[in-house]
Amino acid sequence: MAYKISDLKTDYQSDWCPGCGNFGILNAIMSALVDLQIDLNKAVIVSGIGCSGKTPHFINVSGIHTLHGRDIPFATGIKLANPELTVIVIGGDGNTYGIGAGHFLNAGRRNVDITCLVFNNGVYGLTKGQASPTLKLGMKTKSLPLPNINEAINPLVVAISCGYTFVARSYAYDVKHLKEIIKQGILHKGLSLIDILQPCPSYNDIHTKEYYEEVVNDSKRIYKLEETGYNGEVKDPNNLEEVQQKLSQAILKAQEWGDRIPVGIFYKISLPTFQDRLRSRYQREINPSKDRIEIDKKPTIDISNLIEKIRVK
Ligand code: SF4
Ligand code: MG
Repeated sequence: MAYKISDLKTDYQSDWCPGCGNFGILNAIMSALVDLQIDLNKAVIVSGIGCSGKTPHFINVSGIHTLHGRDIPFATGIKLANPELTVIVIGGDGNTYGIGAGHFLNAGRRNVDITCLVFNNGVYGLTKGQASPTLKLGMKTKSLPLPNINEAINPLVVAISCGYTFVARSYAYDVKHLKEIIKQGILHKGLSLIDILQPCPSYNDIHTKEYYEEVVNDSKRIYKLEETGYNGEVKDPNNLEEVQQKLSQAILKAQEWGDRIPVGIFYKISLPTFQDRLRSRYQREINPSKDRIEIDKKPTIDISNLIEKIRVK
């Protein structure tokens, strides 16, 4: 029988601040699962540390609230151990683009089929609003004593450059748009990044709902790429000219920020996933969760030689 959003809610009460963008994101994740009717026994949500890290507590599927910046490696291991699972990663901008940056970059080289959602609010909200890697140089939020002395990174450009095969941005208060982007990220076979603009009313008084939705020169600051005719999808991954053109277009578009802020799918390409590479290397489906570890009560792998080698004499 089909499940509904109410079936996904847990008994945990959120301690997020009133008006936090996280509520819209939570809603969008649950709505995406409901729309796709993802098998709840085969869905896993892995989070890092920060306000966003609490998300798995509120969704009634298997989840791990893991270490700061280590959500992507956990999720990678889970997906490789059982490729039949739908794995969603949740991290904040500090978690993913700061302490977890090495994992964020190198995940791109593997193209494991997982979906990374980054709640991007420009601050470390849980620890009272220090500048995160996405707060631009010279910005002074109400939580900072002085303007930010560091330049920001552009997560979309980084993701495109290091191999993510689905790179998108959405906005926490546009739940409908965010839900559709999350659905597409889940359905995409390969590594997806969805950077989510997420107002933090407690510590970031610059990137507010009013800022994102302000009408500038007769149109809303946030606008949807798909409404402008932009198409980030590579139709033929073997056509290098098309790939180059779509990459350049995405990198250029990802730098637009100010009076106009685009959301939508910047870049999408269908390439072999890590699982595909394993299949082609070993000429069979690799699914460790289905491997037998013993037959007739005897382990299928003999490790006695290894034990002998490491035995303390
Ligand atoms: Fe949301 Fe900011 Fe409060 Fe964290 S500190 S719950 S990000 S409003
Ligand atoms: Mg943050």
